[in-house]
Amino acid sequence: MPRRMLVVVALGGNALLRKGQKGEIEEQWATARAAARSLAVALSDVDAVVTHGNGPQVGYLLEAFNSLPPDRPRQPLYLAVAMTQGWIGFILQHSLEEAMPGRRVIVVPTRVVVRRDDPALKVPTKPVGPFYTREEAEELEKRLGWVMREDPRGGYRRLVPSPRPVKVLEAGYIKELARRGALVIAAGGGGIPILETGEPVDAVVDKDLASSLLARSIGADRLVILTDVPGVAVGYGRPGARWLSRVTVSELKHLHRMGHFPPGSMGPKVEAAIEFVEATGGTAHIGSLDRALEVIAGTSGTIVVPG
Ligand code: ADP
Ligand code: MG
Repeated sequence: MPRRMLVVVALGGNALLRKGQKGEIEEQWATARAAARSLAVALSDVDAVVTHGNGPQVGYLLEAFNSLPPDRPRQPLYLAVAMTQGWIGFILQHSLEEAMPGRRVIVVPTRVVVRRDDPALKVPTKPVGPFYTREEAEELEKRLGWVMREDPRGGYRRLVPSPRPVKVLEAGYIKELARRGALVIAAGGGGIPILETGEPVDAVVDKDLASSLLARSIGADRLVILTDVPGVAVGYGRPGARWLSRVTVSELKHLHRMGHFPPGSMGPKVEAAIEFVEATGGTAHIGSLDRALEVIAGTSGTIVVPG
C-alpha cells in the first residue's frame, strides 16, 4: 500500500486569537473550532503534524507573572513557552478531535536545540511580553538584567534572543505517531529552546523556522504555513501589490534580498519555505488558514517549487 502523504502544517497566531480579540476563553474556543473545521477537511486523507505560534499567550503569561506580589517567584521565559504548548495544544487537540471524529490527536511537548555559539544568543532582537514605562524598564534592566527597547507603538518592551533551531529533540517520536495515523501537535511556539547539554535558555525560536526543521527531520512531503493573508505578496501593502501563486526557490531568494519580506512576519515564512524546498525537493505552501484545503492542494496561496 502506498504511503499517505506526510505534511507539516504551521498555524499562525490567528488560529487561536483574531486581531482585536482580548483572549476571553469563549473567543479562544470559537477561534480554535473555526480553525479545526478548516483543517479537518484539509487533513482527512493525509498524515500530519500541526505546529503553532504562541506570541499573545506568552505575552499574557509574562504579564501575569509581573502582577504577582513582589515576594512570589517569577518563572523564566522558557517555562512560559512550555506552558503555552500545553495550553494551546489542549485547545487545538479538543477542537480537532471534535472536528475529526475517530482521529486521535496527540500533543507532544517539544524541545528544540539551539547552539551555545549562535551569535543570535548574544544579541536580543525579539520583543516579548507587556509594554513598560521608561522608569519600569530601567528598573527591570538593573534588577533582572533584561534588555529593554523603546517600541515604535510607545513604551518599552523586553527583547529576547531568537537563535536558529538546529535539532528537534522529539522528531523521531513525532514521526512515528503521525505515521500511525495520529494527528500530532508539536513544536508549539517554536519549541522550548535548550542547549546541546539539555540546559534550557531564555529565548524564543521562530515557529516557522522550527516547523521547517521539523518537516525536514521527519521527511515530510509538504510544508504548509497557514496565516491571515492569502499568500506571499510582492510590494505588500503598497499600490500594485502582486500575490505570487507559484514561485521557484531562486526567484523567491531574489525577492527576499530585495527586501519584500520583513523579519518577524513574512520573512521567516519565506526562509522556512526556502530551506524546506532546497533540502527536500518537495513543495512549500503559504496561504490563508480559512482556505487550508486549497492551500495544501496548491490551488490557493503561494506554492514554492524547486528550481
Ligand atoms: P503568523 O502569526 O501567521 O506567523 P505574522 O503576522 O507573523 O503571522 O505574518 C503574517 C503577516 O505578514 C501578514 O498579516 C502580513 O501583514 C505580513 N506581511 C509582511 N510582508 C508580507 C508580504 N510580502 N506578503 C504577505 N504578507 C506580508
Ligand atoms: Mg509570525
